[in-house]
Order: sequence, then structure tokens, then C-alpha cells
Amino acid sequence: MEFISEILQELKDKDLLRDCTAIESAQEPIVRIKGKEYISFCSNNYLGLANHPLLKQAAIEAIHQYGCGTGASRLVSGTMTLHAALEKKIAEFKGTEAALLFPTGYMANLGALCAIVTKEDIVIGDKLNHASIIDGCRYSGATFRVYPHKDITKLESLLHKSLSYRRRLVVTDSVFSMDGDTAPLAEIASVVKKYNALLMVDDAHATGVFGKNGKGLIEHYGLEGQIEIVMGSLSKAVGSIGGFIAGSQQLIDFLKNKARHFIYTTALPPAVCAASLAGLNLILENATHMNNLWENIHYLNSSLSRFTPAIAGESPIFPFVIGTSKDALELSMKLFQNGILIPAIRPPTVPPGTSRLRVSIMANHEKHHLDRLIEVLCNIGFLKEKSSL
Ligand SMILES: *Cc1c(COP(=O)(O)O)cnc(C)c1O
Repeated sequence: MEFISEILQELKDKDLLRDCTAIESAQEPIVRIKGKEYISFCSNNYLGLANHPLLKQAAIEAIHQYGCGTGASRLVSGTMTLHAALEKKIAEFKGTEAALLFPTGYMANLGALCAIVTKEDIVIGDKLNHASIIDGCRYSGATFRVYPHKDITKLESLLHKSLSYRRRLVVTDSVFSMDGDTAPLAEIASVVKKYNALLMVDDAHATGVFGKNGKGLIEHYGLEGQIEIVMGSLSKAVGSIGGFIAGSQQLIDFLKNKARHFIYTTALPPAVCAASLAGLNLILENATHMNNLWENIHYLNSSLSRFTPAIAGESPIFPFVIGTSKDALELSMKLFQNGILIPAIRPPTVPPGTSRLRVSIMANHEKHHLDRLIEVLCNIGFLKEKSSL
């Protein structure tokens, strides 16, 4: 087992060692760690629903009625009425015929990709796609090609060269998880159609955040019904946990039979399904959370515009790109000492040399939380007033 200590030491030497910080309170803008309070700017709980009374109540009622565990895979005896109700709601939410739940978004991506493409096929993805997509592309056994970030010309040339493959699948994040920018979905959909390929869109960070009704970036661009394979997560803005694929009834029937990450794992617990249902209903019925979130995004953008370096967010995710892992760790540490929680994101999560603080905003951050972030970043010398240059 010597290799383990060697690898750990090597990670430490390269400032790449990671560990978990335990939060002692609910996932709110203010969290408690070792008895002290911090403003959290690193949660994907964008709408603040993870600790919402309606979701908690729904989960508690589901536990009273159905208990905790599900005891088996969905295909054996694990499917309960709440799974069916949630899948129906997801399909309605995403504007598709049907949907299929997976325990997590990670597993939804792996399960779908490995089922849809195999050895005879090619899968083409954006260079900055989420790790779960990259893993799915790799494990599928299909030929796997990447195009430079959002480069449609390069995507088209890869599609052009791929005509001899049995199936051609293009897969992209809608909102990129570490940069917060958005994919040009309309252009991608049109070039994919031109080459008669399939398109899979991972709407994990856009669900509950983009679109008139919070249904995601696909709704935002008016592309509902035009994307064959829609992936999403219930673990971020929806405030619960779980992943899903939405699409045609046939796609869902196919995945039930072929997606190993659906078949060979135990069904999600009823409490979680009830919380997800409550979260989706809340997003559909009450725009307040999404409006507050966007107000906060605009507020932070306008605050940041007075400073260098230039940082702007297209979504709740603001990438504060630093460079080396050491510098990113140091900045994160200084913020922590000043009561702000933003862990450093380092390779392999982001490309080498682009270690960063990934600041994410929630609907229930108060303006004074955002002001405090700016104040601390100025005090420690990271942000500088433009006028003072
Ligand atoms: C978080 C994320 C996932 C994984 O979803 P989980 O439900 O957390 O497993 C997949 N894709 C993207 C783009 C993500 O950001």
C-alpha cells in the first residue's frame, strides 16, 4: 500500500490534495463550520430550496407514508408511486413525452451515454463538458472526439468526417459547470440536424435557473421538443437529489432496458422523490425564487464592473480564474479567514493553469452578503478599483 502514501504526498506537493469540509447547519447562505459562521458562495442550491419548508414537509410526509428505503432496483420492486409521479412531472417540466430517474445526474449521464453509443458509434462533445459526460463518453466504448469550447465550426468539421459511423451523437452542457457560460444551443441543434446526428443536452445547471418558467436553457432558447436527449439533475436548483433523462417514450423504454446505471442500482428513496416533486412544483408555481436569483446575479455583475480583474457571470456561476493551484488555495484560505466559504477548484476539475474560485450565487443571498464578498476581495487585494489604476 506504499503507492497510496506516495500518491497522497505527490498531490499535496502539487497543491492538488482535496478534502471535505463538514457543514454543521442546513445549506443556506450562512453555514456553520466548527461552530463558526461563514457566508457560503459555493453551493449549487441556486434557488435556496434545499432547506425550504415545503420540500422538507413533502419529504417528511413521504417518510410517514412510505418509509425510508426502497429495497430493490426500479425493475424489481423498487418502483413506487412517487417515482412514477416524479417522472411524469419531469416530462411535463421538460416538455417531453417521458422521463426516467437515475440516482444522480452523474449516473444519468453515464447510463444514457453508455446505452446510446457503443463501439460502432462516435460521440462528439465540448472540451469543457462536465466530468460525468466525459466519463460516459469514455466508458461507452464509442469513438470520442472533442471540439474546442463552443466552436461550432470545429463541431461541424468533426460531424462531416464522421459520416461512416453507425450513430453520431453530439453532447454538451447547456450551462458549463465551472465557467457558468452558456452553450449556443440553437446553432448546435441546427448543425446536428444538418448531419442527421443525435443531440444530448445536459441541462443540470440551467434547470430552475433559465427559461421563462425555469425549465432550463432549452426553454430559454425555445428549443423544447427539438432535443432528442435531455439530461438534468434534481440536485442543484431543485434542492433535492437525483438525475434524469427526458425524451421520447421510446428512448425511455430503451433506457429502462439498456442503461446499466438505471438497472443495477437501488431506486431513489420516496422522501427524495417527494422533495423533488415539491421543488419542481414550486419552480413552476412561484417565480419569486428565480427572480431573486437573477436580481442577485445582476447586482453582483454591476458591483464587479467597478473592479479589475474583469469578472462577469452569465448565470449564477462566476468564475474567478486565478491560475496556479497554490494561488487559488491561498485566496480561498484568506477568504475563509474572513468568514467566506469558497473552496479552490483545481485540476483535473478545470484545465491546468486555470485553478479558480467558482463563486455561485443563491436566490436567498442578501445584498449585504454580496457586498461583504466584494469588501473582503478588496481588502485582501484581489479586486482593485478601476479608478485607482
Ligand atoms: C452536477 C452536474 C452533473 C451531475 O449531477 P449530480 O446530480 O450532482 O450527480 C452532471 N452534469 C453537470 C453539467 C453538472 O454540473
